[in-house]
Amino acid sequence: MTNSVRPGTDRGLLIVLSGPSGVGKGTVCAALRKCAPDLVYSVSATTRAARAGEIDGVNYFFKTKEQFRSMIERDELLEWAEYVGNYYGTPRSFVEQTLNEGKDIILEIEVQGALKVKEKFPEGVFIFLTPPSLTELESRIVGRGTESEESIRNRMTVAVDEIRLMEQYDYAVVNDQVELACQRIQAILIAEHCRRERVLPRIQKWMEEVH
Ligand code: 5GP
Repeated sequence: MTNSVRPGTDRGLLIVLSGPSGVGKGTVCAALRKCAPDLVYSVSATTRAARAGEIDGVNYFFKTKEQFRSMIERDELLEWAEYVGNYYGTPRSFVEQTLNEGKDIILEIEVQGALKVKEKFPEGVFIFLTPPSLTELESRIVGRGTESEESIRNRMTVAVDEIRLMEQYDYAVVNDQVELACQRIQAILIAEHCRRERVLPRIQKWMEEVH
């Protein structure tokens, strides 16, 4: 198994979109699906219950804790993390296969998992989605209407710690408006594809033919 997205090869880009709870990762990803249809989206495994309208294999692969643990034991997950009492993880083989086919794949995951991916794939593109302010983040979490006061406080404390980890990422995208955040992510992807080390091997091929 190859563990790295080597620049200068025909492999796709591994893109990790992460950020604190409530920042709008899911909303931005849903918008990206429309404006970046060539991107492949990784479907995570989780032990949390499906929400209304969620489909197994589309939104998540819904697993029991036992099934999830055996995925861990069989090393089927690229990364996994425990988040508010449930497990979440990225199936490895789909990511590998997509990258080998030369397609770009995006993982929408929380911060602990993103940093684990970075250990294995330092050449990945790590994008941190940040709220325009902490007040805005709090009002988005409160606005969901799903969290108790205590949970809101906990999420805000975790969010502040997570925002401090932004320095480990390659890019920071402010999610002030979903469309703007999408455009910024697309700009990042275009720039990453123009990296000299990715383009050079192709140019070298035709340059060799000149002699
Ligand atoms: P939700 O339960 O709201 O769908 O997701 C909760 C959190 O888990 C979100 O921050 C989401 O980005 C994160 N998440 C989803 N899939 C994965 C995964 O495969 N790995 C990790 N580490 N986090 C994930």
